Amino acid sequence: MTEYRTFTTHLECSYTGERYDADTVQGLSTAGKPLLVRYDLDGVAAVLDKKTLASRAEGGFWRYRELLPVRRTENVVSLGEVMTPLIEARASAAKLGARSLIVKDEGRLPTGSFKARGLALAVSMAKEFGIGRMAMPTNGNAGSALAAYGSQAGIETYVFCPEDTPEVNVREIALQGAKTFLCNGLINDCGRVVGEGKEKMGWFDTSTLKEPYRIEGKKTMGLELAEQMGWSLPDVILYPTGGGTGLIGMWKAFDELEKIGFIGSQRPRMVAVQASGCAPIVKAYEDGVEHAELWQGAHTYAAGIRVPVAVGDFLILRAVRDSGGFAVAVEDADIASALADMAADDGLMLCPEGAATFAAYRKALADGRIDRGERAVLYNCATGLKYPLPAAGRRLDLGQPIDYAALG
Ligand SMILES: *Cc1c(COP(=O)(O)O)cnc(C)c1O
Repeated sequence: MTEYRTFTTHLECSYTGERYDADTVQGLSTAGKPLLVRYDLDGVAAVLDKKTLASRAEGGFWRYRELLPVRRTENVVSLGEVMTPLIEARASAAKLGARSLIVKDEGRLPTGSFKARGLALAVSMAKEFGIGRMAMPTNGNAGSALAAYGSQAGIETYVFCPEDTPEVNVREIALQGAKTFLCNGLINDCGRVVGEGKEKMGWFDTSTLKEPYRIEGKKTMGLELAEQMGWSLPDVILYPTGGGTGLIGMWKAFDELEKIGFIGSQRPRMVAVQASGCAPIVKAYEDGVEHAELWQGAHTYAAGIRVPVAVGDFLILRAVRDSGGFAVAVEDADIASALADMAADDGLMLCPEGAATFAAYRKALADGRIDRGERAVLYNCATGLKYPLPAAGRRLDLGQPIDYAALG
């Protein structure tokens, strides 16, 4: 991999603005809030222009090295990341009378989900700091990405899942080398296991937003989107929101891109999509408050967004409000029909969380919160192939004459 200059200056508490050293291991701030990586953006602007970036061979997010925290190239842990495609959902848009509907398909990344972005950065930084053991609670995809990048880096990983985590996730996590545990609780209960065991076990706590680097990885979704759209941005982005790392990260990306002169001040409206059975951010948005309450009895088959409490709640809510967006919840039944419709109409089989954004889009067109003329981007965060699929196929008896006319 090519050597690049890096520009990290410090870490900053996202709540109080207090500064922290960027070259030592950090978790949350003393206020218990996420830390954000800050860069010398004038320095970045002096060495990086759009043409230089366009000429780079790296196809995936490591092409944005000047805006990422890894200092030494030998610490970059890679499993062959790609720039994920923007796909026009033409038939779905036409059916709805909408001008443009684009899916950013994150299922093409290593381990089949956008968790690869965040965990590639977290594991690379762990390698840079000489950390030997990482642990996290997960609903599935994050654990898989931690396991895979951890194994690639030679770092030991411990992963704690709620016991109803989709089986394919549990198995891929274990196969990719993590010590894997099924816990009788939700993801926040699994998080408690990590928090309480970390001293004893020497774990680096890799929970969502409890370390500073997963946001930097997820931020690359925003950098990539802007580059792919010719340094412009869509009118509205719909994002399936669990811990909110991606939404917070993209919002940060747009800010950094403006500061280095790559884009102007126009921003997409950010829409946080949750499931009706677990919608703490939507409730906080509607109540007009800054922090979300723990959601009781969380349930939805879209496991990736079954997150009852988010440390970065205020950052999600700020991005949503500052952008003029909104937060919206959708029913599981509407997620399932959105998934089936886009698969049949456009040949795009979304994951349930991705399908939740399409369900939210349809709902928002119907109630006027999104206009048919707005250019919308949906984030499909994982490959649909990781999830149990509905039974299908008609039986054909080859011992009998086939009535071909009846097949249509
Ligand atoms: C983690 C995950 C999400 C939620 O992402 P956040 O950035 O943590 O809000 C959504 N969908 C899938 C498939 C996920 O794995």
